[in-house]
Amino acid sequence: MKTDNKKTLNCRTAWQNCLLKIQGMVPREEFVKWFLPVEALDFDGSKLRLKVPNNSFYKQLDSNYLDILQPLIRAYFGEGTTLTYAIPKNSAAKSTNSESATLGKDVDVSQVKNPFILPAIRKESFESNLNPKYTFANFIEGDCNRMVRSAAFNVSLNPGSTAFNPLFIFGDSGLGKTHVAQAIGNEVKMRHPKLRVLYVPMSTFKAQFQTANINKEVTDFISFYQKIDVLIIDDIQELSGLPGTQNAFFNIFNHLQMNGKQLVLVSDKPPVELVGIEERLITRFKWGLSAQIHVPDRKTKLDIIRLKANDLDATVSEDVQEYLADNISANVREIEGAISSLVANSKFLNKRITIDLTKEILKVYVSMEVKEITIELIINTVCEYMKVDREKLESNDRTREVALARQLCMFLAKEHTKMSLVNIGHAIGNRNHATVLHSCKTIQSLMDIDKVIRKQVNDLEKLLS
Ligand code: ADP
Ligand code: MG
Repeated sequence: MKTDNKKTLNCRTAWQNCLLKIQGMVPREEFVKWFLPVEALDFDGSKLRLKVPNNSFYKQLDSNYLDILQPLIRAYFGEGTTLTYAIPKNSAAKSTNSESATLGKDVDVSQVKNPFILPAIRKESFESNLNPKYTFANFIEGDCNRMVRSAAFNVSLNPGSTAFNPLFIFGDSGLGKTHVAQAIGNEVKMRHPKLRVLYVPMSTFKAQFQTANINKEVTDFISFYQKIDVLIIDDIQELSGLPGTQNAFFNIFNHLQMNGKQLVLVSDKPPVELVGIEERLITRFKWGLSAQIHVPDRKTKLDIIRLKANDLDATVSEDVQEYLADNISANVREIEGAISSLVANSKFLNKRITIDLTKEILKVYVSMEVKEITIELIINTVCEYMKVDREKLESNDRTREVALARQLCMFLAKEHTKMSLVNIGHAIGNRNHATVLHSCKTIQSLMDIDKVIRKQVNDLEKLLS
């Protein structure tokens, strides 16, 4: 037994040495994709068995990288070493061998210990991490979210087999992205109880990857995610600037896509505006359907107000509902906040919910909100400071001061609000996102070389805060 352990250990060490060499020979992404998932099972003195995830992986590895593998394996395991690949039985493939040596035995490597897989995925009730309160039934449909809702619902009916893969949902904060994404998960679980659904915020995914990386369990981490049928990742923009996590996600994404599994990605920006995320991922994000949730129109706001009041068991008259719809921000999270504070106050003061009480409550609520930097505040502040007419700012006037004021508005909106470039352009004379992006870059570079611009930006930022 001891000798066997030692052999395995030596085999693993020799394979680690091969990997170190390979790491220096192929681009990082290829290394992560094609070599990290490979595990050395054993070496009997002449035959090395490598475990690979599936048959197509083996074929690719064997045809594309044998030139690299062969000399290294011979160097570390000895001349005349033959290579055998072991493929998990559940991937419907047989162990197969390369280099015309004897065929390796069929090995059930699904028995191989895998900390990510065993405790979690084999469990009878797989933990989906979904909040049951987010359903389609309590998601109000309106012009602002009709397309997203309908695509989301379709995905729940036939996960993985619609053209919406990935389904990329984006929009500003508080508009219902998480709600609708989790509704997909809950609906799938109801309609297809056997499917493994997982909802995971990017912050959790990042943390899991980091832990796996420290514990040298990245392969297990990746294969855990590759076993999911419907993977919902929230706040995907947080993947920015993390090449290691992006690599792992790239592998997971490709595997799920290739195997007809469903991906739902949620972001605060459309794919084109994501920064710090590799192009190959952005390209893939655009493969399916990208759909935006917009700010709610008045009718949707009213429907939401009614639903939320009902949820709180509060009687809210029609005129109060309309007053609320006209006076509170279009962000659904804020609408909810205002209603709960209204209902709580009315209960506390033991008063009926009248327009007067609503005004009182909203005064506090709204004045708190005003402190937030909005596009309106930015446009007004810039126009006043630069002495530019608002109408001119929104027109096609190209005189230097007007163009500069416009660019400053766009830059400040990008820096100080959570609005997407599309919405910023929309608010400033209906310009497209490319113009906004260009303006932001112009101001950014001018600030590096032009003292006056730098001062203007500083002054404006002080005025805004
Ligand atoms: P986001 O993820 O876009 O920031 P959330 O999904 O967290 O926004 O939504 C914020 C709150 O507003 C949640 O409590 C959600 O239930 C509610 N909400 C958003 N849109 C709707 C809608 N169309 N119908 C009902 N509730 C909604
Ligand atoms: Mg969210």
